[in-house]
Amino acid sequence: MQIKMSSESSDILHYMNILKKAELDHLAQIMTERKSRLLQEIREVLVRTGDERYARLAGEVADMGDESVADLLSDVSHAEVARDVNEVRDIVAAEHRITTGRYGVCINCGASIGYERLAAYPTAKRCFECQQNHEKTHAPAARPSL
Ligand SMILES: [Zn+2]
Repeated sequence: MQIKMSSESSDILHYMNILKKAELDHLAQIMTERKSRLLQEIREVLVRTGDERYARLAGEVADMGDESVADLLSDVSHAEVARDVNEVRDIVAAEHRITTGRYGVCINCGASIGYERLAAYPTAKRCFECQQNHEKTHAPAARPSL
């Protein structure tokens, strides 16, 4: 069977051209592995706190989908867990971008983020340039602009 490239699918094809299928698979795999490590770590930290409520959460984390986990844990104030949860949330968002064909495309300027940058930072939402600008604009206690 021959696959015709209809105009409706040109967007998707455009994004797929940026990252090779193998590259995308590799990045997706890195993120999946990272995510299970993080969830494991979250469970361990929650159990270690000895807090009864957190211990119950830890049990629930084991049986839940990633997105629900992020929601469930969003009010856990434990600093270490909060950091991990943020990272899980970033990964879930990146996986969603893969599903919707937007992965590897800068959310600011629409440029290709590039495999090299993604390999170093798989959840990157912005190209290097936009990220620099973003950090400059959003840096806490910005330096005086002389
Ligand atoms: Zn950009």
